Amino acid sequence: MATIVQKYGGTSVGSPERIKSVARRVLETQQAGNKVVVVVSAMSGVTDSLIKLSREVSDQPSEREMDVLLSTGEQTSTALLAMALQGMGAKAVSLTGAQAGIVTDGAHTKAKIFNITPGQIQDHLDGGAVVIVAGFQGQTAQGAITTLGRGGSDLTAIALAGALKADKCEICTDVDGVYTCDPRIVPDARKIDTISYEEMLEMASSGSKIMQSRSVEFASKFDVLFEVRSSFNQNPGTIVKEETPGMEDVVIRGVSIERNQAKITIEGVPDKTGTAAKIFNALAAAHVVVDVIVQTAPHEGKTDISFTTNKDELEKAGPALEAVAAGIGARGVTQTAGVAKLSVVGIGMRTHSGVAAKLFDLLATGGFNIQMISTSEIKIAVILDEDSIAEAAKAVHAGFGLAG
Ligand code: ADP
Ligand code: ASP
Ligand code: MG
Repeated sequence: MATIVQKYGGTSVGSPERIKSVARRVLETQQAGNKVVVVVSAMSGVTDSLIKLSREVSDQPSEREMDVLLSTGEQTSTALLAMALQGMGAKAVSLTGAQAGIVTDGAHTKAKIFNITPGQIQDHLDGGAVVIVAGFQGQTAQGAITTLGRGGSDLTAIALAGALKADKCEICTDVDGVYTCDPRIVPDARKIDTISYEEMLEMASSGSKIMQSRSVEFASKFDVLFEVRSSFNQNPGTIVKEETPGMEDVVIRGVSIERNQAKITIEGVPDKTGTAAKIFNALAAAHVVVDVIVQTAPHEGKTDISFTTNKDELEKAGPALEAVAAGIGARGVTQTAGVAKLSVVGIGMRTHSGVAAKLFDLLATGGFNIQMISTSEIKIAVILDEDSIAEAAKAVHAGFGLAG
């Protein structure tokens, strides 16, 4: 008997009707002769409204209590799906993350999984039940409830598939798979049949929110092959797996965009050893997550250092930088919100030259001004005006021949 882990996202369980249709699908999978573990997200919008609710009672809710609150969203879905399955005559049981044996560290709201002891899951599977596990949550060794970061149900599913040595892990969502770009932005994007962990990770961490990036990292580390597919049809989805030889033939696998970025420049920084260290240590101490960094060539003993961060980080970054800029004798600090990042990703870049030139040509032809550039072995990212990001994505996507 094969063991299958299926994860259903928020939209897929977003209404009673959808929960019933997930139940039918799960039942079919079980009746085909499989042991089925289902991981569910909170119903769409629930996590956001719980966050909103917390802000209505406190300006700074503690992270511990946030986890207690947010974990209820997923628990609601597990119980409802179990009831729907039972209503269809099936044997089904819901489990919280803790009951499923998911032990994490104590980093509330972004906990890391330490280990999984899926004894209860195994027992219920052996007893013939469909086991429904609340996604996005675990428990510390001391018994505190934790959550795994936004989109964390993906991580629950992949980690459980690894721990159970499942034969299949399906991430069921509201699109048919991973596309060459978010189909909501580029309507003629094409579904990708197979993608390497590395490419999926670069796409996820550069704004393609189809998968939580930490879950892809986990899959790659523990070699958990998974399929991203639709909850609403039986079309084959996208297989995410280790790189195979032919994969490098495709130069660009996909295009990602990330909105809500901000650019900060520290102007007139003295060109002296240790100034960058002081700036970025101050940002680290203020827990600001920094993305693209650019330093200009020194001119008359001064340089400008720019970096991007999420727009929401500006509140923390501003005061930290004002203090450090004064301390190192910089001229001042400027902030620009309203920028976004566009990335092209593909392992083929390792063996093909001219990709950057082509990207810059396409952007120039479309009249898109590049504000910053950053590269890795398999990605080129540019910072552009946020207003033009969707148009730029369409132009780049078409220019690289990705359109269907
Ligand atoms: P779930 O609730 O099932 O976890 P998400 O909303 O997290 O679903 O992810 C699915 C969404 O990801 C899609 O509706 C789509 O708009 C978006 N998305 C972003 N980039 C891509 C991409 N490259 N391919 C497919 N979908 C993408
Ligand atoms: N409900 C959580 C979120 O909205 C986790 C998830 O959906 O994967 O981020
Ligand atoms: Mg998701």
